[in-house]
Amino acid sequence: MQNADLHMHTTASDGGYSPLELVTKCKEVGLEYIAITDHDTVGGVAEAIKEGEKHGITVISGIEFSTKEAGVSVHILGYGIDVTDAALLKMLQEQQQMRKKRMEEMVTKFAEQNIHIDEVEILKEADGGSIGRPHVAKVLVKMGIVKDVAEAFHLYLAEGKPCYVKKEREMTPLEALKWIEAAKGVAIVAHPVYYDLDDKIEEWVATGLLHGVEVYHRDHEDAVQKHYEQLVKRIEQKFDISLLRTGGSDFHHEDYGRVRQPLGETRIDNEFAIELLAKIQSRS
Ligand SMILES: [Zn+2]
Ligand SMILES: [Zn+2]
Repeated sequence: MQNADLHMHTTASDGGYSPLELVTKCKEVGLEYIAITDHDTVGGVAEAIKEGEKHGITVISGIEFSTKEAGVSVHILGYGIDVTDAALLKMLQEQQQMRKKRMEEMVTKFAEQNIHIDEVEILKEADGGSIGRPHVAKVLVKMGIVKDVAEAFHLYLAEGKPCYVKKEREMTPLEALKWIEAAKGVAIVAHPVYYDLDDKIEEWVATGLLHGVEVYHRDHEDAVQKHYEQLVKRIEQKFDISLLRTGGSDFHHEDYGRVRQPLGETRIDNEFAIELLAKIQSRS
């Protein structure tokens, strides 16, 4: 049966539906195994699990960490983590506060230039991840204040310009893997097609902290999927281990992406969810 979706967002990060609404919708389209993987928060997990129990849907706890590897944004999924882990919760909360503060500082500096930016627009551009200057630049382009991102940097956002705000250091993928390990979770590298870091994936597996690859994803075309199936096989043979293959829709809302995406359009075999659950069980 292909009724699993292991990558979904709720209003706890930048999704369009509350955990309760999302699970209800999953029931309507016949999903049996789902995972809630909000960006840098586990805030929606408990509610989703409770709602899942009502509907007979297995809800797996999850999170999607925003990290940076040599300037490239990398998302790391953590499944089955202990969502009450105090150290993890504290770190996530501090991170959230820092990001919010940075955005507010930027918005204030623009206001001083008589440019009034809607914070919601920045959040939309940031796509749930950490807010950066390119996101603000894109909003300025949309507002018609500058003609392109380069001009936004040149006039306002570059170091030494009036709206520059110093950036906090971002977590590396390896740090995210360590957090997942400490919270007894299972770590998966998300939608690898976005970053082309095959060698790094192998390195992370070699550390023993990365347990698998999101081989199936809404944005993975057949050739891409095949590439990652082969990569996983190659790494498995090299280290004589077995890795997990996961996948999902990365659903936020029907109208979130470039093309309209109904819930339940991207599904993977239940077997992948069952294997993930077995791995989670072996970790706790
Ligand atoms: Zn992602
Ligand atoms: Zn996602």
